Amino acid sequence: MNNPHLAPFVQDEAQMREWRRDIHAHPELGFQEQRTSELVASRLESFGIEVHRGIGKTGVVGVLKNGTSERSVGLRADMDALPIQEANRFPHRSRHEGVMHACGHDGHTAMLLGAAKHLARSRGFDGSVHFIFQPAEEGIGGARAMVEDGLFRRFACDAIFGMHNRPGMALGRFAVRSGPMMAGGAFFDIDVAGRGAHGARPESGIDPVLAAAHIATALQSIVSRNVRPVETAVLSVTQIHAGDAYNVIPQSARLCGTVRAFSTEVMEMIGRNMARIAEGVAGGFGASAKTDFRAVFPPLVNDANEAEFAAGVCSELVGAGNVRRDPPLIMASEDFSYMLAEVPGCYINIGNGDGEGACEVHNPSYDFNDAALPYGAAFFVRLVEKKLPR
Ligand SMILES: [Zn+2]
Ligand SMILES: [Zn+2]
Repeated sequence: MNNPHLAPFVQDEAQMREWRRDIHAHPELGFQEQRTSELVASRLESFGIEVHRGIGKTGVVGVLKNGTSERSVGLRADMDALPIQEANRFPHRSRHEGVMHACGHDGHTAMLLGAAKHLARSRGFDGSVHFIFQPAEEGIGGARAMVEDGLFRRFACDAIFGMHNRPGMALGRFAVRSGPMMAGGAFFDIDVAGRGAHGARPESGIDPVLAAAHIATALQSIVSRNVRPVETAVLSVTQIHAGDAYNVIPQSARLCGTVRAFSTEVMEMIGRNMARIAEGVAGGFGASAKTDFRAVFPPLVNDANEAEFAAGVCSELVGAGNVRRDPPLIMASEDFSYMLAEVPGCYINIGNGDGEGACEVHNPSYDFNDAALPYGAAFFVRLVEKKLPR
């Protein structure tokens, strides 16, 4: 490794790899990260960092102060694994049946621990650093649990930063996007009520299956006719449930699905139009419909100034040519958006290597690339030194 900015992390690389593989071998699902959060807390304590356990159930916050400045920065990693049976056979494969670190959160945690160790030793900053290790990123609300548990009231942050590995993006490359980056997500249930009848005597009932079929079709007009064409959104009906017999028109039918969008306004507009279309279409058939529309993730939006700042840190580490400044929008959602909705900051992607066709996250053969560890740790450390200069 010839990069002078990474030289200080070469000595820590072996240790980060050891932590990463230990966490990989002992994966834990969201809000069950007992061993992982204890490993994190005890390592932070061993670096002389003040530790707060049990924030948002299994979340951990480390506090490192230096100098007299009131400024503060938050750095966040996620700790949870996924309910996937690991296909890998290497020595650090999962010891837990049906649970696996298939999203690289083992790597994210190890990189932030590496940065904490370095900063506790070098103390090249003036202010407070909050190391935030969150539980349950994979769709069950770990970030929200920490925020509701008073994360930013107890550990005020002027700005927060997080990162996610990206398979297929070369090692030593970063991607930073200003403004919206990842979609917000909502789930919906539409209950259609009709009147049951004999399948051979439809005139004596109100068929909720027919109404539900028309609703499913009509909902596809929302993205094409109600969302401005330059905005991006998707609406998918993913479940239709009704009836139990060949010769019975059922009393009710249910439609379920998901919506993704990049602004809260678009998301709310889709929710309103969905309810109106469902009621209106059902009413046209003499049936009725009730819509339950639930936003589950806000869109992830990076602050323009903090994105500029994060990109500057990356450029310093790997050269501007290795920092992609306008990566495409990502339709998937990310829990860090809850924290970014409270405090300005930026979420970036870090290359996990292997080029085109690399094993994607959430695949049973995925493994975080340990060669990315020094890049991630160096990013966090340099960010703190620049954000909280002495
Ligand atoms: Zn994931
Ligand atoms: Zn992930």
